[in-house]
Amino acid sequence: MLCFSFVQSNLYSGATYSSIDGNVNPFRLIDMYMRAAKRNGVQYSAYNKVTEIKKQNGKYLVVSDKGAFECKNLILAGGTCSSEIGDMLGIKIPVNQLRGQILVSEPLKPFLNFTISGLRQANNGEVLMGYSMEDAGFNRATTLDVIQESANMAVHYVPGLRKAKIVRAFSGIRAMPEDGFPILGEVPGFKNLYVAATHSGVTLSPLIGTLIIELIMDGETSIPIDRYSLSRFG
Ligand SMILES: Cc1cc2nc3c(=O)[nH]c(=O)nc-3n(C[C@H](O)[C@H](O)[C@H](O)COP(=O)(O)OP(=O)(O)OC[C@H]3O[C@@H](n4cnc5c(N)ncnc54)[C@H](O)[C@@H]3O)c2cc1C
Repeated sequence: MLCFSFVQSNLYSGATYSSIDGNVNPFRLIDMYMRAAKRNGVQYSAYNKVTEIKKQNGKYLVVSDKGAFECKNLILAGGTCSSEIGDMLGIKIPVNQLRGQILVSEPLKPFLNFTISGLRQANNGEVLMGYSMEDAGFNRATTLDVIQESANMAVHYVPGLRKAKIVRAFSGIRAMPEDGFPILGEVPGFKNLYVAATHSGVTLSPLIGTLIIELIMDGETSIPIDRYSLSRFG
């Protein structure tokens, strides 16, 4: 990834480059994960809100709109709603919301072979522009000031984009742990209860999935993750 960073004067101060970075379509990635998991016997219950979680007889009872599920091991991976899910067990999981707005161009001939932070071209030719980080709670509106800022940033990197047509703008809400670092591992004081909450959860998903599985199956991880424990928040 080529990553330019802003300084307050709006000058670009430097860059990093990694030849192995690339883009992934998160919808396709999730679809592949789900297919692989189903082949291994995983069952999904979609569009099903969890309303309560209880600890009883050494197990966890997850109560949802479509019935209750009992399990020995439970992973809390509620993304932006991690805090609300933690509350169900009286656990403070300090995850905030951070809005990001993205502009999408009409499909263009391939011209961007690497990912710039805030600018990438999907393999259907659309260019995704924007890297806003806004404290807006769960408000998923798009706003003119951020749209203009994102467009200016894109044209600064690639002046030719000035002629591109923008077909839509959308926003999404990032899960952001209070101190900016992932929250990972077994919940202190709760045996067999795990938490996985982070930003950059698409890029990190293979790693985080592997680490949590190692923890459940082997009781330890192949790389140390203590510094990401929920216990650091006291
Ligand atoms: C604009 C924008 C740009 C981003 N760019 C990148 C990027 O370039 N690279 C990257 O790696 N990441 C990026 N991210 C972040 C990435 O999307 C998240 O980090 C990732 O989705 C987190 O995955 P997750 O599975 O932990 O949480 P989520 O994807 O939020 O999944 C949590 C799930 O829990 C469910 N849930 C919550 N509460 C309940 C409940 N009570 N009952 C039942 N289900 C519940 C939700 O419905 C949801 O399906 C971006 C995000 C935004 C908004």
